[in-house]
Amino acid sequence: MSVDTARTGWREARTRRGIQLLAALCLAALAGCLSPSGTHPPQASDWAFQILETDHATVHSEPGVSQEDSREVGVLFENGYRVVGGDLGYPAKRPQLYVYASEQRMYEDLLTRWGYPTWVREVHTVPRMHRDYIEWIPPGQHQDIAFITHEYSHRIIEQLAGLNSQINFKWLDEGLAEYEGQEALAQLFPAAAHSKAEARQRLLAGSSASGTLIPFFEMTTERQWDEQIQHGSQLAYPEAWAALDYLVGRYGMARVKGVLVLIGTGKRFPEAFREIYGFTVDQFEASFRTFLSATSM
Ligand SMILES: [Zn+2]
Repeated sequence: MSVDTARTGWREARTRRGIQLLAALCLAALAGCLSPSGTHPPQASDWAFQILETDHATVHSEPGVSQEDSREVGVLFENGYRVVGGDLGYPAKRPQLYVYASEQRMYEDLLTRWGYPTWVREVHTVPRMHRDYIEWIPPGQHQDIAFITHEYSHRIIEQLAGLNSQINFKWLDEGLAEYEGQEALAQLFPAAAHSKAEARQRLLAGSSASGTLIPFFEMTTERQWDEQIQHGSQLAYPEAWAALDYLVGRYGMARVKGVLVLIGTGKRFPEAFREIYGFTVDQFEASFRTFLSATSM
């Protein structure tokens, strides 16, 4: 079966290792096994989901999820919504969040009602936000705000740049989603956000010093990103995040959004980047590496 990211519409998924959501990965591997669920009509469900309307989303909680947990997911989403909205804009459609009491129940629903293939359960992945603005949320901890916001950000990035366009600029797509997740985490849990940023900076400083940073040209397409993750890279997400943190810190968020909007008009990523910034991706990467090497001394 061929890899066809354009039809599946949801290739990215997030690996969960226990409750380590903050270190979680958007795993896009095994794509050749996927069915085109982006257009798969959901089957009728006999599950009695409880509905909670927040200001900007509908939270569907399966039986077993407490009202308190439902409300918390709503609060976390609303914070992520504000952060992403201020940076990139707001969703064209009201997001629908599905909250589960257990991973087992979530996968049961993903497979039977939403038509996802069995491997998502086998490798413990959660699909990224669906093109119809549907997000699936396993049980977790307060810091899941980074996870919820990350996946939601991908949908807003697609909204600006075009559905599935991110397969051609993965380091920027993942870096931006990580950046937004981190910003949302910092709003509600600043100490946790600070610790996470420090740990990542240490990792990057070490990688810079040892010359093991991943070249951007090796994590530009979705296939390349997949390969990084499949090969067990622990650096791809932190490095992409750091690149965006540097880019936004130097030149602001409006330009990042400008690149996405240009891509949405049909421009290719490298040209859109150069048009907005006045320098190439390679030149930016060189500047980023110089910055990292200076901070790693
Ligand atoms: Zn992601």
